[in-house]
Amino acid sequence: MPADLYTTCDPYGASDRLTEAELAPLRALRAVLDREVKPLLAEYWEAGEFPYQVMPHLVELNLMTPDAIDGEPRSLYHGFRVFELARTDASLVTFYTAQAGLFRTACRVGGTPEQFAAWDPKIRTFEMTGVFSLTEPEHGSDIAGGLATAARRDGDTWVIDGAKRWIGGAFTAQYLVVFARDEADGQVKGFLVDREAPGTTLEKITGKTALRMMQNAHITLEGVRVPESQRLGNVNSFKDVAAMLRQMRSDVAWIATGIQAGAFEAALAYVTQREQFGRPLGQFQLVQEKLARMLGNLTASLSLCASLAEQQDAGIYRDEDSALAKMWTSLRMRETVALAREVVGGNGITLETDVARFHADAEAVYSYEGTHEINALVVGRALTGKSAFA
Ligand SMILES: Cc1cc2nc3c(=O)[nH]c(=O)nc-3n(C[C@H](O)[C@H](O)[C@H](O)COP(=O)(O)OP(=O)(O)OC[C@H]3O[C@@H](n4cnc5c(N)ncnc54)[C@H](O)[C@@H]3O)c2cc1C
Repeated sequence: MPADLYTTCDPYGASDRLTEAELAPLRALRAVLDREVKPLLAEYWEAGEFPYQVMPHLVELNLMTPDAIDGEPRSLYHGFRVFELARTDASLVTFYTAQAGLFRTACRVGGTPEQFAAWDPKIRTFEMTGVFSLTEPEHGSDIAGGLATAARRDGDTWVIDGAKRWIGGAFTAQYLVVFARDEADGQVKGFLVDREAPGTTLEKITGKTALRMMQNAHITLEGVRVPESQRLGNVNSFKDVAAMLRQMRSDVAWIATGIQAGAFEAALAYVTQREQFGRPLGQFQLVQEKLARMLGNLTASLSLCASLAEQQDAGIYRDEDSALAKMWTSLRMRETVALAREVVGGNGITLETDVARFHADAEAVYSYEGTHEINALVVGRALTGKSAFA
């Protein structure tokens, strides 16, 4: 039995494993999304702007504060929170997850226990905000070996020079978590760079055809100074960054699954109401076959994510597990949003029915947090014991 929120999109009842204390904040989130966010999406997507006015409503819900659900949130709750946001909009979930996923994970995994203890209460309430700056103009898939941004220690400060690209949410964040290579030992280290530090320049990436609401930055860092106290104390090599990517890739698997739910539910609503040949589209066999394929993709993706969440909580999941989940759910997402767009016909390319937005935005999710190929190579390396990256 699925939870009441998910009766249409969760036939095998992955959501049944959520406790009542976990469902309550998800219900509150659904109400805010329906009331405050949904009415704005088409207009802001078309304008290529983010509706920042929705953020106070989301922050108020304290979705990262575990007190309500007894200790640190379970991965299943964390996953359904991501799913619920993605089911509404891909830019919204990406913006929220830049803080609740990328930034918090960077501080939790990369910070010392003392740093994280000091920062986390403020991160959870958005008093301290940040984004994750790893990708560079010349290094995307090969960032592990290619990372070229340089860090040089000068007494109690570090001097950073380089450039970062695609950084989501950077324009409103207080800190950019910048990964740079220490000139002294050649290892990758992490720094909380103040967005307004002298030498830091942000430029909006324009002309996007996916995730138009989300603002992505091209960042230039010229002689930027960061105090040693703002260096992530537990990042000593790229291996430590990979540990962050493991968590982030499982979040993106939930995003790819939530997008499928949003597109599927919008398409189902449309074919139930629109008539051709004197009957609803949903009464045609060929349309029902597509609905069944969408639901199959979605159900399999949700089941995979729920199993991964159990592995995470048991502390037994590996890089290849989250890489497999990100790769495979994204592949299914691409088919699901294309089928949704197809059954809606011409209106499927307008912003009126929601499916066009999911269809376009899915392309960005397909590529970020490791492309299909790179995640497949992580899985392939684990299967064969041989690295095929280069
Ligand atoms: C909307 C959006 C938001 C993003 N947000 C962030 C962010 O907040 N922070 C951040 O740090 N980064 C972010 N990124 C960057 C993202 O992680 C990179 O785009 C991604 O890692 C791919 O890098 P690339 O775009 O440079 O593609 P490239 O590395 O140039 O790859 C191009 C193509 O070549 C393929 N390819 C590359 N190498 C191989 C190989 N060895 N074998 C087979 N195929 C290969 C790739 O799979 C891909 O299909 C974001 C990207 C997007 C689009």
